[in-house]
Amino acid sequence: MKLRRVGFIGWRGMVGAVLLQRMLAEDDFSIIEQPLFFTTSQVGQPAPRLGCRQPPALLDANDLNALGEMEAIVTCQGGDYTAAVHARLRSRGWNGYWIDAASKLRLASDAVIILDPVNRSLIEQGLADGKKDFIGGNCTVSLMMMALAGLFNADLIDWLSVTTYQAISGGGARQMRELLAQMGHVHQAVSEMLAEPTYSILDLDKSATAALRSAQLPNAEIGFPLAGSLLPWVDREVAHAHGLSREEWKGAVEANKILGREAAPIPIESLCVRIDALRCHSQAFTIKLKQDLPTDEICAILAQGNDWVSVVANDRQQSLSRLTPAAVSGSLNIVVGRLRKLNSLTKFSAEGGYISAFTVGDQLLWGAAEPLRRMLRILHQHDCN
Ligand code: NAP
Repeated sequence: MKLRRVGFIGWRGMVGAVLLQRMLAEDDFSIIEQPLFFTTSQVGQPAPRLGCRQPPALLDANDLNALGEMEAIVTCQGGDYTAAVHARLRSRGWNGYWIDAASKLRLASDAVIILDPVNRSLIEQGLADGKKDFIGGNCTVSLMMMALAGLFNADLIDWLSVTTYQAISGGGARQMRELLAQMGHVHQAVSEMLAEPTYSILDLDKSATAALRSAQLPNAEIGFPLAGSLLPWVDREVAHAHGLSREEWKGAVEANKILGREAAPIPIESLCVRIDALRCHSQAFTIKLKQDLPTDEICAILAQGNDWVSVVANDRQQSLSRLTPAAVSGSLNIVVGRLRKLNSLTKFSAEGGYISAFTVGDQLLWGAAEPLRRMLRILHQHDCN
Protein backbone atom coordinates (compact mmCIF):
# COMPACT_ATOMS: atom_id res chain seq x y z
CA MET A 1 0.00 0.00 0.00
CA LYS A 2 1.32 3.45 -0.91
CA LEU A 3 1.60 6.46 1.38
CA ARG A 4 -1.51 8.40 0.49
CA ARG A 5 -0.67 12.10 0.50
CA VAL A 6 2.74 13.48 1.32
CA GLY A 7 3.40 17.24 1.40
CA PHE A 8 6.86 18.66 0.65
CA ILE A 9 7.91 22.06 1.96
CA GLY A 10 11.29 23.71 1.37
CA TRP A 11 12.00 21.62 -1.74
CA ARG A 12 13.59 24.63 -3.51
CA GLY A 13 16.29 25.22 -0.87
CA MET A 14 19.70 23.57 -0.50
CA VAL A 15 18.50 20.50 1.43
CA GLY A 16 15.15 20.26 -0.36
CA ALA A 17 16.74 20.32 -3.83
CA VAL A 18 19.11 17.48 -2.86
CA LEU A 19 16.21 15.57 -1.29
CA LEU A 20 14.22 15.82 -4.52
CA GLN A 21 17.24 14.72 -6.57
CA ARG A 22 17.81 11.69 -4.32
CA MET A 23 14.12 10.73 -4.22
CA LEU A 24 13.98 10.78 -8.02
CA ALA A 25 17.20 8.75 -8.26
CA GLU A 26 15.84 6.12 -5.82
CA ASP A 27 12.31 6.10 -7.31
CA ASP A 28 10.91 7.07 -3.89
CA PHE A 29 7.90 8.85 -5.39
CA SER A 30 6.61 5.42 -6.50
CA ILE A 31 5.64 4.73 -2.86
CA ILE A 32 3.55 7.92 -2.68
CA GLU A 33 0.08 8.07 -4.20
CA GLN A 34 -0.11 11.87 -4.27
CA PRO A 35 2.99 14.01 -3.66
CA LEU A 36 2.03 17.66 -3.12
CA PHE A 37 4.42 20.61 -3.08
CA PHE A 38 4.08 23.71 -0.90
CA THR A 39 5.86 27.06 -0.91
CA THR A 40 6.12 30.15 1.26
CA SER A 41 6.79 32.43 -1.73
CA GLN A 42 5.47 31.03 -5.04
CA VAL A 43 1.86 29.88 -4.52
CA GLY A 44 0.18 28.81 -7.78
CA GLN A 45 3.40 28.39 -9.73
CA PRO A 46 4.17 24.97 -11.28
CA ALA A 47 5.36 22.24 -8.95
CA PRO A 48 8.55 20.38 -9.88
CA ARG A 49 8.03 17.65 -12.47
CA LEU A 50 8.61 14.10 -11.20
CA GLY A 51 9.65 12.16 -14.29
CA CYS A 52 6.44 11.65 -16.24
CA ARG A 53 4.24 12.92 -13.35
CA GLN A 54 3.30 16.57 -13.01
CA PRO A 55 1.96 17.30 -9.50
CA PRO A 56 -0.62 20.12 -9.07
CA ALA A 57 0.49 23.75 -8.78
CA LEU A 58 2.29 24.88 -5.60
CA LEU A 59 0.14 25.15 -2.48
CA ASP A 60 0.46 27.68 0.32
CA ALA A 61 2.82 26.31 3.02
CA ASN A 62 0.90 28.34 5.65
CA ASP A 63 -2.52 26.91 4.73
CA LEU A 64 -3.26 24.67 7.74
CA ASN A 65 -6.34 23.17 6.05
CA ALA A 66 -4.30 21.95 3.10
CA LEU A 67 -1.46 20.74 5.35
CA GLY A 68 -3.99 18.97 7.57
CA GLU A 69 -4.95 16.67 4.68
CA MET A 70 -1.43 15.20 4.46
CA GLU A 71 -0.62 11.75 5.83
CA ALA A 72 2.99 12.92 6.15
CA ILE A 73 4.76 16.25 5.81
CA VAL A 74 8.42 16.50 4.86
CA THR A 75 9.85 19.94 5.52
CA CYS A 76 13.27 21.39 4.69
CA GLN A 77 12.04 24.96 5.11
CA GLY A 78 13.85 25.78 8.34
CA GLY A 79 13.22 26.23 12.06
CA ASP A 80 11.16 29.43 11.83
CA TYR A 81 8.65 27.66 9.61
CA THR A 82 8.50 24.66 11.97
CA ALA A 83 7.95 27.01 14.91
CA ALA A 84 5.18 28.84 13.07
CA VAL A 85 3.25 25.79 11.81
CA HIS A 86 3.91 22.52 13.66
CA ALA A 87 2.26 23.29 17.03
CA ARG A 88 -0.76 24.98 15.41
CA LEU A 89 -1.29 21.99 13.13
CA ARG A 90 -1.04 19.53 16.02
CA SER A 91 -3.39 21.62 18.15
CA ARG A 92 -6.02 21.25 15.41
CA GLY A 93 -5.77 17.47 15.88
CA TRP A 94 -3.54 16.67 12.91
CA ASN A 95 -2.01 13.26 13.60
CA GLY A 96 0.21 12.75 10.55
CA TYR A 97 3.95 12.16 10.40
CA TRP A 98 6.14 15.27 10.54
CA ILE A 99 9.59 14.69 9.01
CA ASP A 100 11.83 17.73 9.37
CA ALA A 101 15.41 18.84 8.57
CA ALA A 102 15.31 21.77 11.02
CA SER A 103 16.60 21.63 14.59
CA LYS A 104 13.50 23.15 16.25
CA LEU A 105 11.92 19.86 17.43
CA ARG A 106 15.00 17.63 17.68
CA LEU A 107 15.26 17.58 21.44
CA ALA A 108 11.53 17.41 22.17
CA SER A 109 10.84 14.32 24.28
CA ASP A 110 8.27 12.97 21.81
CA ALA A 111 10.55 13.44 18.76
CA VAL A 112 13.04 10.92 17.42
CA ILE A 113 16.28 12.08 15.74
CA ILE A 114 16.53 9.96 12.60
CA LEU A 115 19.77 8.40 11.36
CA ASP A 116 18.68 4.85 10.62
CA PRO A 117 22.08 3.21 9.91
CA VAL A 118 22.96 4.20 13.48
CA ASN A 119 19.66 4.18 15.39
CA ARG A 120 17.10 2.15 13.42
CA SER A 121 16.00 0.40 16.62
CA LEU A 122 15.13 3.76 18.28
CA ILE A 123 13.14 4.76 15.17
CA GLU A 124 11.24 1.46 15.20
CA GLN A 125 10.62 1.86 18.93
CA GLY A 126 9.34 5.40 18.31
CA LEU A 127 6.90 4.15 15.66
CA ALA A 128 5.73 1.35 17.95
CA ASP A 129 5.17 3.94 20.71
CA GLY A 130 3.02 6.02 18.35
CA LYS A 131 5.51 8.87 17.91
CA LYS A 132 4.84 11.11 14.93
CA ASP A 133 7.72 13.60 14.80
CA PHE A 134 10.88 12.29 13.11
CA ILE A 135 13.61 14.88 12.83
CA GLY A 136 16.89 14.81 10.89
CA GLY A 137 19.99 15.44 13.01
CA ASN A 138 22.43 18.32 12.85
CA CYS A 139 24.62 17.78 9.78
CA THR A 140 28.01 17.60 11.52
CA VAL A 141 26.60 15.36 14.24
CA SER A 142 25.04 12.93 11.73
CA LEU A 143 28.29 12.78 9.73
CA MET A 144 30.31 12.16 12.90
CA MET A 145 27.94 9.36 13.93
CA MET A 146 28.16 7.76 10.48
CA ALA A 147 31.96 8.01 10.43
CA LEU A 148 32.53 6.66 13.95
CA ALA A 149 29.56 4.26 14.05
CA GLY A 150 31.83 1.23 14.54
CA LEU A 151 33.39 2.73 17.66
CA PHE A 152 30.07 4.01 19.03
CA ASN A 153 28.35 0.64 18.42
CA ALA A 154 31.11 -1.20 20.28
CA ASP A 155 30.91 1.36 23.11
CA LEU A 156 34.64 1.99 22.74
CA ILE A 157 34.65 5.78 23.07
CA ASP A 158 35.57 7.18 26.47
CA TRP A 159 35.48 10.82 25.28
CA LEU A 160 36.16 12.75 22.11
CA SER A 161 37.08 16.22 20.98
CA VAL A 162 36.28 17.43 17.47
CA THR A 163 37.16 20.44 15.33
CA THR A 164 34.90 20.93 12.31
CA TYR A 165 35.60 22.45 8.90
CA GLN A 166 32.11 23.18 7.58
CA ALA A 167 31.09 24.04 4.02
CA ILE A 168 29.03 27.11 3.20
CA SER A 169 26.11 25.14 1.72
CA GLY A 170 25.42 24.22 5.36
CA GLY A 171 24.16 27.80 5.64
CA GLY A 172 21.66 27.42 2.78
CA ALA A 173 21.27 28.34 -0.88
CA ARG A 174 21.66 32.09 -0.44
CA GLN A 175 24.94 31.79 1.48
CA MET A 176 26.29 29.36 -1.14
CA ARG A 177 25.51 31.86 -3.90
CA GLU A 178 27.12 34.65 -1.92
CA LEU A 179 30.37 32.75 -1.31
CA LEU A 180 30.70 32.19 -5.06
CA ALA A 181 30.04 35.91 -5.60
CA GLN A 182 32.76 36.74 -3.02
CA MET A 183 35.21 34.46 -4.84
CA GLY A 184 34.33 36.20 -8.11
CA HIS A 185 34.76 39.64 -6.53
CA VAL A 186 38.27 38.83 -5.30
CA HIS A 187 39.27 37.21 -8.58
CA GLN A 188 38.02 40.20 -10.55
CA ALA A 189 40.16 42.53 -8.42
CA VAL A 190 43.37 40.70 -9.34
CA SER A 191 42.63 39.15 -12.74
CA GLU A 192 44.87 41.55 -14.70
CA MET A 193 47.76 41.02 -12.27
CA LEU A 194 47.27 37.22 -12.49
CA ALA A 195 47.60 37.38 -16.26
CA GLU A 196 51.10 38.79 -15.79
CA PRO A 197 53.31 35.97 -14.32
CA THR A 198 56.05 38.35 -13.14
CA TYR A 199 53.70 40.64 -11.21
CA SER A 200 54.90 41.12 -7.61
CA ILE A 201 53.29 38.44 -5.41
CA LEU A 202 53.11 40.87 -2.47
CA ASP A 203 51.17 43.42 -4.56
CA LEU A 204 48.87 40.62 -5.72
CA ASP A 205 48.30 39.58 -2.11
CA LYS A 206 47.68 43.20 -1.09
CA SER A 207 45.07 43.72 -3.80
CA ALA A 208 43.29 40.42 -3.04
CA THR A 209 43.17 41.19 0.70
CA ALA A 210 41.93 44.73 0.01
CA ALA A 211 39.12 43.28 -2.18
CA LEU A 212 38.20 40.88 0.62
CA ARG A 213 37.99 43.73 3.13
CA SER A 214 36.27 46.21 0.80
CA ALA A 215 32.74 47.50 1.39
CA GLN A 216 31.85 46.23 -2.11
CA LEU A 217 32.38 42.58 -1.15
CA PRO A 218 28.93 40.90 -1.21
CA ASN A 219 28.20 39.84 2.39
CA ALA A 220 24.49 40.45 3.04
CA GLU A 221 23.89 36.74 3.75
CA ILE A 222 27.13 35.51 5.36
CA GLY A 223 27.84 38.80 7.11
CA PHE A 224 31.66 38.58 6.80
CA PRO A 225 34.34 37.83 4.21
CA LEU A 226 34.65 34.05 3.82
CA ALA A 227 36.29 33.53 0.41
CA GLY A 228 39.98 32.84 1.05
CA SER A 229 39.27 33.01 4.80
CA LEU A 230 37.34 31.17 7.52
CA LEU A 231 34.83 31.99 10.26
CA PRO A 232 35.50 30.44 13.68
CA TRP A 233 31.87 30.58 14.83
CA VAL A 234 28.84 28.71 13.43
CA ASP A 235 25.26 29.53 14.47
CA ARG A 236 24.31 31.74 17.42
CA GLU A 237 25.72 31.86 20.95
CA VAL A 238 24.23 29.65 23.65
CA ALA A 239 23.30 31.76 26.68
CA HIS A 240 25.17 31.07 29.94
CA ALA A 241 27.32 28.35 28.33
CA HIS A 242 30.79 29.87 28.72
CA GLY A 243 31.27 30.85 25.08
CA LEU A 244 29.74 27.82 23.37
CA SER A 245 28.16 28.21 19.92
CA ARG A 246 24.88 26.40 19.27
CA GLU A 247 26.56 24.21 16.67
CA GLU A 248 29.10 23.12 19.31
CA TRP A 249 26.41 22.53 21.92
CA LYS A 250 24.48 20.28 19.52
CA GLY A 251 27.56 18.05 19.11
CA ALA A 252 27.23 16.41 22.52
CA VAL A 253 23.48 16.74 23.08
CA GLU A 254 22.26 15.38 19.75
CA ALA A 255 24.88 12.64 19.46
CA ASN A 256 23.87 11.22 22.82
CA LYS A 257 20.17 11.44 21.96
CA ILE A 258 20.77 9.59 18.66
CA LEU A 259 22.51 6.86 20.65
CA GLY A 260 19.77 6.80 23.30
CA ARG A 261 22.47 7.63 25.88
CA GLU A 262 20.99 10.75 27.50
CA ALA A 263 21.28 9.12 30.94
CA ALA A 264 24.96 8.16 30.51
CA PRO A 265 26.29 10.61 27.91
CA ILE A 266 29.65 10.27 26.19
CA PRO A 267 31.62 13.53 26.75
CA ILE A 268 31.97 15.26 23.36
CA GLU A 269 33.64 18.67 22.96
CA SER A 270 33.42 20.60 19.68
CA LEU A 271 35.00 23.65 18.07
CA CYS A 272 33.01 24.48 14.92
CA VAL A 273 34.53 26.46 12.05
CA ARG A 274 33.05 27.58 8.73
CA ILE A 275 35.50 27.32 5.82
CA ASP A 276 35.15 28.32 2.18
CA ALA A 277 34.43 24.79 0.92
CA LEU A 278 31.17 24.67 -1.07
CA ARG A 279 29.88 21.28 0.00
CA CYS A 280 30.95 18.61 2.57
CA HIS A 281 31.79 18.99 6.22
CA SER A 282 35.17 17.73 7.42
CA GLN A 283 36.01 16.95 11.05
CA ALA A 284 39.24 16.28 12.94
CA PHE A 285 38.94 14.10 16.04
CA THR A 286 41.01 13.39 19.10
CA ILE A 287 39.48 10.30 20.64
CA LYS A 288 40.16 8.57 23.93
CA LEU A 289 39.23 4.92 23.58
CA LYS A 290 38.29 2.74 26.52
CA GLN A 291 40.89 0.20 25.35
CA ASP A 292 44.30 0.62 23.77
CA LEU A 293 43.60 -1.35 20.55
CA PRO A 294 46.03 -1.90 17.66
CA THR A 295 45.53 0.57 14.78
CA ASP A 296 44.60 -2.23 12.33
CA GLU A 297 41.85 -3.38 14.65
CA ILE A 298 40.49 0.18 14.99
CA CYS A 299 40.45 0.51 11.17
CA ALA A 300 38.54 -2.76 10.86
CA ILE A 301 35.98 -1.70 13.48
CA LEU A 302 35.44 1.66 11.72
CA ALA A 303 35.12 0.03 8.28
CA GLN A 304 32.37 -2.25 9.60
CA GLY A 305 30.37 0.64 11.05
CA ASN A 306 27.90 0.79 8.13
CA ASP A 307 27.72 0.26 4.35
CA TRP A 308 28.87 3.79 3.46
CA VAL A 309 31.97 4.30 5.57
CA SER A 310 35.42 3.52 4.20
CA VAL A 311 38.83 3.88 5.78
CA VAL A 312 41.56 5.72 3.88
CA ALA A 313 45.17 4.68 4.54
CA ASN A 314 47.10 7.25 6.55
CA ASP A 315 49.52 8.21 3.80
CA ARG A 316 49.97 11.44 1.87
CA GLN A 317 48.73 10.27 -1.52
CA GLN A 318 45.54 8.58 -0.23
CA SER A 319 44.75 11.43 2.15
CA LEU A 320 45.12 14.15 -0.48
CA SER A 321 43.28 12.30 -3.21
CA ARG A 322 40.42 10.69 -1.26
CA LEU A 323 39.94 12.54 2.04
CA THR A 324 38.77 15.94 0.76
CA PRO A 325 35.52 17.77 0.03
CA ALA A 326 36.49 17.86 -3.67
CA ALA A 327 36.69 14.04 -3.75
CA VAL A 328 33.61 13.29 -1.62
CA SER A 329 31.13 16.02 -2.69
CA GLY A 330 27.91 14.63 -4.19
CA SER A 331 28.52 11.05 -2.99
CA LEU A 332 27.11 9.08 -0.09
CA ASN A 333 30.59 7.94 0.90
CA ILE A 334 31.80 8.74 4.40
CA VAL A 335 35.57 8.59 4.40
CA VAL A 336 37.72 8.31 7.54
CA GLY A 337 41.47 8.63 7.55
CA ARG A 338 44.54 10.20 9.24
CA LEU A 339 44.18 7.43 11.80
CA ARG A 340 47.10 7.14 14.15
CA LYS A 341 47.85 6.61 17.81
CA LEU A 342 48.75 9.70 19.81
CA ASN A 343 51.50 8.02 21.79
CA SER A 344 52.86 11.30 23.15
CA LEU A 345 49.61 11.71 25.15
CA THR A 346 50.16 8.40 26.93
CA LYS A 347 52.63 10.12 29.25
CA PHE A 348 49.64 11.95 30.82
CA SER A 349 47.77 8.70 31.31
CA ALA A 350 49.61 5.41 31.15
CA GLU A 351 46.57 3.50 29.90
CA GLY A 352 46.91 4.74 26.27
CA GLY A 353 44.05 4.56 23.76
CA TYR A 354 44.44 8.06 22.31
CA ILE A 355 43.90 8.26 18.54
CA SER A 356 43.41 10.95 15.91
CA ALA A 357 41.09 10.64 12.91
CA PHE A 358 39.76 12.86 10.14
CA THR A 359 36.52 12.43 8.25
CA VAL A 360 34.76 14.02 5.28
CA GLY A 361 31.11 13.55 4.32
CA ASP A 362 28.56 15.37 2.19
CA GLN A 363 26.42 17.19 4.73
CA LEU A 364 23.59 17.63 2.22
CA LEU A 365 23.30 13.84 1.86
CA TRP A 366 23.89 11.90 5.11
CA GLY A 367 23.83 15.17 7.04
CA ALA A 368 20.41 16.25 5.77
CA ALA A 369 18.44 14.75 2.86
CA GLU A 370 19.26 11.03 3.10
CA PRO A 371 17.79 10.32 6.56
CA LEU A 372 14.57 12.14 5.52
CA ARG A 373 13.97 10.12 2.34
CA ARG A 374 14.87 6.89 4.15
CA MET A 375 12.31 7.77 6.86
CA LEU A 376 9.61 7.82 4.18
CA ARG A 377 10.72 4.30 3.15
CA ILE A 378 10.59 3.18 6.80
CA LEU A 379 7.06 4.61 7.16
CA HIS A 380 6.01 2.82 4.00
CA GLN A 381 7.35 -0.52 5.34
CA HIS A 382 5.72 0.17 8.71
CA ASP A 383 2.34 0.83 7.04
CA CYS A 384 2.65 -2.35 4.95
CA ASN A 385 3.25 -4.52 8.06
P1 NAP B 1 17.74 27.23 2.29
O1 NAP B 1 18.62 26.79 1.18
O2 NAP B 1 17.94 28.63 2.78
O3 NAP B 1 16.22 27.04 1.84
C1 NAP B 1 15.12 27.33 2.66
C2 NAP B 1 14.04 28.05 1.85
O4 NAP B 1 14.48 29.35 1.49
C3 NAP B 1 13.68 27.43 0.52
O5 NAP B 1 12.85 26.31 0.70
C4 NAP B 1 12.96 28.58 -0.16
O6 NAP B 1 11.59 28.60 0.27
C5 NAP B 1 13.67 29.82 0.39
N1 NAP B 1 14.55 30.51 -0.58
C6 NAP B 1 14.67 31.85 -0.65
N2 NAP B 1 15.57 32.20 -1.57
C7 NAP B 1 16.03 31.07 -2.14
C8 NAP B 1 16.96 30.79 -3.19
N3 NAP B 1 17.64 31.76 -3.80
N4 NAP B 1 17.19 29.50 -3.53
C9 NAP B 1 16.54 28.50 -2.89
N5 NAP B 1 15.66 28.72 -1.89
C10 NAP B 1 15.38 29.98 -1.51
O7 NAP B 1 17.92 26.30 3.58
P2 NAP B 1 18.58 24.84 3.69
O8 NAP B 1 20.04 24.95 3.79
O9 NAP B 1 17.98 23.96 2.67
O10 NAP B 1 18.10 24.42 5.17
C11 NAP B 1 16.76 24.05 5.47
C12 NAP B 1 16.71 23.48 6.88
O11 NAP B 1 17.53 22.31 6.95
C13 NAP B 1 17.25 24.44 7.96
O12 NAP B 1 16.51 24.31 9.12
C14 NAP B 1 18.67 23.95 8.17
O13 NAP B 1 19.15 24.27 9.46
C15 NAP B 1 18.48 22.46 8.01
N6 NAP B 1 19.69 21.74 7.60
C16 NAP B 1 20.46 22.27 6.61
C17 NAP B 1 21.60 21.57 6.21
C18 NAP B 1 22.48 22.09 5.12
O14 NAP B 1 23.56 21.49 4.89
N7 NAP B 1 22.12 23.15 4.41
C19 NAP B 1 21.92 20.35 6.83
C20 NAP B 1 21.09 19.85 7.84
C21 NAP B 1 19.97 20.55 8.21
P3 NAP B 1 10.36 28.98 -0.67
O15 NAP B 1 10.48 28.14 -1.92
O16 NAP B 1 9.17 28.65 0.14
O17 NAP B 1 10.55 30.44 -0.96
